[in-house]
Order: sequence, then C-alpha cells, then structure tokens
Amino acid sequence: MELIDGNKIAAGIVAELKAAVAALPARKPCIALVRVGEDPASVSYVKRKEQTAAEIGITSRVILPPVAISQAELFALIDQLNADSAIDGILVQSPLPAHLDETAVFRRITPHKDVDGLGTINLGKIAQDDDSGFVGCTPAGIMELLARSGVRLAGRHVVVIGRSLLVGKPVALLAMQKKSWANATVTVCHSQTTGLPALTRQADVLIAAIGRAEFVTADMVKPGAVVIDVGVNRVADASRKNGYRLVGDVHFASVAPLAGKITPVPGGVGPMTVAMLMKNTLKAYRQQHPA
Ligand code: NAP
Repeated sequence: MELIDGNKIAAGIVAELKAAVAALPARKPCIALVRVGEDPASVSYVKRKEQTAAEIGITSRVILPPVAISQAELFALIDQLNADSAIDGILVQSPLPAHLDETAVFRRITPHKDVDGLGTINLGKIAQDDDSGFVGCTPAGIMELLARSGVRLAGRHVVVIGRSLLVGKPVALLAMQKKSWANATVTVCHSQTTGLPALTRQADVLIAAIGRAEFVTADMVKPGAVVIDVGVNRVADASRKNGYRLVGDVHFASVAPLAGKITPVPGGVGPMTVAMLMKNTLKAYRQQHPA
C-alpha cells in the first residue's frame, strides 16, 4: 500500500504558485473571502485560505457580513465585488445560514471570478470538456492528487460514492472527460443505489464523498484499488483535548492494507482543496490581465 500524501503534494503546488506569483509584474492576484456567520469549521477554513494566500503572495480580502444579512444585501455585496477591478476571485464560504439560498448566491458570482467553480457556467463547462473555466477546488484537487501520484484513469473503472454538486458530480464528470488524462469509465452511486458493495468492489479507483464516518469497509474494496477518501467527519474522542478526532468516509485501518494507494484523513484531499483555490485565483488573474 502506498499512502498518497496530500500535504506534500499540496505543498509542491503552493511552492509552484509562489514562484509564479513572485514573477508577476504590478499588482498581485487578489481573492475576496466572504464568510457569513461563525460556523467553527467555516472560521477555520477561511483562516487557512487566508494563510495560504499570504504564503503564496496572493492578497486576500476577508469580508464578514452580519449573520442576519438578507439575500438582497448579499447579492448587492457580490455585485460590488464582481465590479471591483482590484479583485480577481470571489469565494463565498459554504454553508451559508439557512435563510440564504446558497445556489443562488453561487450563481450571482460573475463566472470569470467564480474561483470556487460552483456557478452554473463553470459547472457546465466541465460537462462540455471546456478547460477555460474554474473547476471546483475539491474535485480539481482529487484529479491533481491522482495525476501527481501517477494514477492513470484512461480505460479504468472509477466508482464515485456521492453525487453532490460540490464533489461527487463534478469529479465524475472530470473522470469521464474525453481527455488523455481522464477517459475513465465512471459509475456514480448515492443513497438510493442498491447493491453498493458489489459496485464499489469493481472500482479500480474508488472515490468516497459521502459524509459518513468510516462507511467504506474492506469488503467493499477490490484489492489493489486506489482509494480517495474525501470525507471529513468528527467523531467523539474523550482522549483528545478538543473532544473529537477527524475521520474520513473510509475505514482506513481495514482498507489501507488491501488498497494499492490510499489518501489519509486528515492529510489527503483536504490540503489540496486550498491549494487548488489559489491555483484558480491565479488563473482568474491571468485571464483578467493577459500578458
Ligand atoms: P453531501 O452534499 O451531503 O453529499 C453526500 C452524498 O453521499 C450524497 O450524494 C448522498 O446521496 C450520498 N450518500 C449519503 N449516504 C449514502 C449511503 N448510505 N450510501 C451511498 N451514498 C450515500 O456531501 P458533500 O458536500 O459531497 O461532502 C461529502 C464529504 O466530503 C463530507 O464528509 C464533507 O465534509 C467532505 N468534504 C471534504 C472536502 C475536503 O476538502 N476534504 C471538501 C468538500 C467536502 P443522496 O444524493 O442520495 O443524498
């Protein structure tokens, strides 16, 4: 079994981006990070994005609207950021409070600043095999992890568990793109799938994006398969200072010994997500400032 080290691969991407940003003339790329409310996970995600941006030399503008902000007010804020020529990328941290329509907010971001890739145009470009848009940071991170770990997808069977717009659906579309680095045969499973273990056992590459702690067990995995664990789940652990530990959607202890390659949680897909956001921000900057 080979461990796919997301921290190491993400650090390599951050170093590449740092060198690329240092070589840019005039003003550096700038990302607006919008966080509504105090969801603890969102607070730490935005902080990490801010820190990574600073490390690379990307300017970040953190905007913290009041939790009671109305849909109309949030739209007005996004319109303002859309029109601001000093800002190249806009990220609205999910989840938003329940009174806000998240999909409508993502759609409001102008496509050429939609560095989180969750708007209609950028999601549609994935379906059209069009590389000019922004691929969501988690699916892009998964594809990059696979590529940089030497996993070829062409002709192989990729099974994705999960069909969310954030992860499952876009990563399935990416893996089946008619491109030399994709060209996989893809099966997408979800909560209504029957006979899930029989399907997952066929996977050469198994991608778990479910949100259920240690759901994928050894009997669901073909020996030698590449296993990508997207899940981030908190489970109670009294021995820890914070009272919990993070586990993935894969039961690592039983699956790792039989997998060909596997990502750990934490330290697998997670670090890639932030690195890909920064990569998208540099791409947005370059598109808006052609050399
Ligand atoms: P989500 O929107 O809740 O989607 C979960 C998917 O799993 C749904 O499609 C659901 O099916 C499916 N599912 C649920 N129970 C199932 C079951 N028993 N059998 C088969 N499929 C089942 O979650 P998400 O946003 O895609 O996130 C998935 C996980 O990845 C979460 O743990 C999240 O925290 C993590 N995540 C990590 C990162 C990172 O950077 N590491 C980024 C994003 C997400 P239905 O569609 O039928 O409901």
